Amino acid sequence: MLAAALGGSGQWDVRVYSGSVGEALRAAFAECSAVVSFLATGATVRVLAPVLGDKTTDPAVVCVDEARRFAIALLGGHHGANDLARRVADVFGPGCQAVVTTASDAIGVAALDGFGADLGFGVADPELLAPVGAAVLSGSPVNLLVDRQWPLPALPPNVCSDAGGAYTIAISDLADEPAERTLRYRPPSLVVGVGASRGASADEILETIDAALAAGNLSAVSVARLASLDIKASEPGLVEAAARRGWPVEFYPAAQLAQVPVPNPSPVVSASTGTASVAEAAARYDGPGRPLADLVVEKVKSARATAMATAAVGRLRPRGRLALIGLGPGARDLLAPRAVEELRRAAVVVGLDQYLAQIGDLLRPGTQVVASGLGAEEERARGAVELARTGQAVALVGSGDAGVYAMASPALDYADRDDIDVLCVPGVTAATAASNVLGAALGHDHCAISLSDLHTPWPVIERRVRAAAEGDFVVSFYNPRSRQRDWQLGAALEILAARRPPGTPIGWVRNASRADQSYGVTTLDLFDPAVVDMYTVVIVGCSQSRIVAGRFVTPRGYTWAA
Ligand code: SAH
Repeated sequence: MLAAALGGSGQWDVRVYSGSVGEALRAAFAECSAVVSFLATGATVRVLAPVLGDKTTDPAVVCVDEARRFAIALLGGHHGANDLARRVADVFGPGCQAVVTTASDAIGVAALDGFGADLGFGVADPELLAPVGAAVLSGSPVNLLVDRQWPLPALPPNVCSDAGGAYTIAISDLADEPAERTLRYRPPSLVVGVGASRGASADEILETIDAALAAGNLSAVSVARLASLDIKASEPGLVEAAARRGWPVEFYPAAQLAQVPVPNPSPVVSASTGTASVAEAAARYDGPGRPLADLVVEKVKSARATAMATAAVGRLRPRGRLALIGLGPGARDLLAPRAVEELRRAAVVVGLDQYLAQIGDLLRPGTQVVASGLGAEEERARGAVELARTGQAVALVGSGDAGVYAMASPALDYADRDDIDVLCVPGVTAATAASNVLGAALGHDHCAISLSDLHTPWPVIERRVRAAAEGDFVVSFYNPRSRQRDWQLGAALEILAARRPPGTPIGWVRNASRADQSYGVTTLDLFDPAVVDMYTVVIVGCSQSRIVAGRFVTPRGYTWAA
């Protein structure tokens, strides 16, 4: 069955060896470029050990167990065994799994068939996906030709410009011819601005668009959309032209288009429509506040005698992508699957070295890691935004939730132009992590207060603590105490104690969910702030909170003792 399936592909000349297993296996190893052994891994190793040579010249070896559950790439993983193991597993069906143990494969390289799909990339040469994908996975050098920086996930280090390999991955909106061993991706980077007189036919409009694309040597597959003036929104020829090619069309008001600088403004067009350019301006305009596209083909007029259509082509700037990712309190299983997905979507990951060390194994091979030490928060946030502005896919990571006393706010403050895409992935913040260690401390109205007076003046913090005391909120204190800030927690607790019974529960959790987690629950009158440091969160109950069987519980009940 396997011989027929592999031989049938025409890729291999398949031979079946039988007889004495040792001799058969050694003969196959001597004569073939790849071997599938139906012996246990141990037996295979013992038979082949004496004849093993160099991995670049030895045949690849895959072992398959008797029950056909595993196809194990045993020898020469990057020299054919990984690919062969996958092929063999395919042939044996879903019950059989390829076992690949080489490093890059274990971590997971981005799959080529979906590469750039979320950005709208199209594949011009799908027949090359399999061989190029195999080359990428096997660690062979693959050339990378990109027209501009795109916010794509990381590619492994063997895929790079001037890699000198047999295959090339090219990303471009140019209408280049197919080239041997070049897998071409088409980014949706082009906007065709279209002007059409009333009654212009779809044929005339499409001819004009095609002429404009040809003038720039541009691929129609890279057309992201057509664009025109809003009063053309129901022009039948234009609507039909777009529908025929499956292109979306955007329509903009004259007032917006009139603002766009163009090389060929027309006073006549201005008099009749209110904008001196339709085709060129619509090709550049990308919505309010967004950067203008570069005009790559100036206005082309219809070649027909009727001359009722114009077209111009703009090239959109790739929008970088910034993901603000909360890693949770520490434990791997409290890290959201979405955060993992976004870490693997990024090409650059920025954060504190201690957090990056926690998640290094999740990153795709080839991911650039920008680690920094404590402090310099603003710089880190600014650096991440700047990197995203170069068009890259950047992840800025922080502990807990990235939006709670963390990097998301400085980053978003700095990202004050609509030139990148930003998304935020929530993480379990220290207060909820700690509340769950202690019991149900946050069971009713609660607030969080950071006691760090490095950024916030103490009088402001004090005012909030008083308000929390007055409002009878459960309070979670972040940044409760450090070597330099040793009196603030005591001062804050005094304010709360003045309004709460001495038996009010207070809990602290240090390194919640981490290997060295510790915690304690006691009452306000007995609490010693010295047990607390900067890895700790402190939760003070409200007047209704209780200690029940050692657990800190704030009742949910509405039978409030006023
Ligand atoms: N963004 C983080 C908070 C950063 S401020 C979050 O959402 O959790 C840093 C403070 O958070 C620390 O001083 C400490 O008070 C608290 N903290 C963060 N992680 C913690 C953990 N695993 N256990 C206890 N406290 C933690």
